[in-house]
Amino acid sequence: MSLKGKTAVITGSNSGIGLGVAHELARAGADVVINSFTDREEDHALAASIAKEHGVTVRYIQADMSKPDQCRALIEQAGACDILVNNAGIQHVAPIDEFPLEKWDAIIAINLSSAFHTTAVALPMMRKAGWGRVINIASAHGLTASPFKSAYIAAKHGVVGLSKTTALETAREPITCNAICPGYVLTPLVEAQIPDTAKKYDMSEEEVTQKVILERQPSKEFATVEQIGGTAVFLCSDAAAQITGTTISVDGGWTAL
Ligand code: NAD
Repeated sequence: MSLKGKTAVITGSNSGIGLGVAHELARAGADVVINSFTDREEDHALAASIAKEHGVTVRYIQADMSKPDQCRALIEQAGACDILVNNAGIQHVAPIDEFPLEKWDAIIAINLSSAFHTTAVALPMMRKAGWGRVINIASAHGLTASPFKSAYIAAKHGVVGLSKTTALETAREPITCNAICPGYVLTPLVEAQIPDTAKKYDMSEEEVTQKVILERQPSKEFATVEQIGGTAVFLCSDAAAQITGTTISVDGGWTAL
């Protein structure tokens, strides 16, 4: 399938899943806008390298997804947005009674509210173009809970709800909205949790990966960023034109438990 002529905007995409999704959409022929809150030479170099690898146009636009006006400006600056992938996300782990207020606010802003702001600006563009795909990267934690991740789980359940509402508001148009719910994917966000968790449980990093991190993932394997990207490409295909307002789990069986 070809996404030639389509423009995809992926929030939080200079690393991890967002970067994997950017590669797969570019491989399918879409022009891509990648984003993060930084403005480093390497961010622009990354855009150039994706463009070179896949022969499409790739731009890096700096915008901080914790700031409503910058979320909206990202889509406006992109100029076109046929495919919107709301991916930016952060994590913080602490019991509710010790959860820092600023972490709660940042997680809700980046992981949930940013998707509302970008979608609000992107939908009129999609309507004008006569086609659109909104793909929200939620999580297995958008469908289930774990202790100590209150803000993340509240935000990801919120993303699933926002996806359903977006789908209903666009149901009579050639626009779909769905949430991809990954289980554990080995990205910087997860890698950062391994050493501390290993210390906490007095285990080796390999042991902690298998016994703690992948405990709820029956396949005992991480999902890959390419698999998440491939799922996003599928959601852009004609085969997925009637798939809207739902979740697609890529979680090695987590939510079957
Ligand atoms: P990551 O840390 O590799 O990537 C997060 C991305 O978000 C980075 O590009 C970062 O620069 C960007 N970002 C962070 N704060 C931002 C801000 N204020 N403004 C703009 N960009 C910002 O993590 P990841 O694992 O690739 O996570 C990507 C998404 O996938 C997140 O929404 C995460 O919750 C979700 N997810 C990850 C996993 C997993 O196991 N890795 C599982 C389920 C869901």
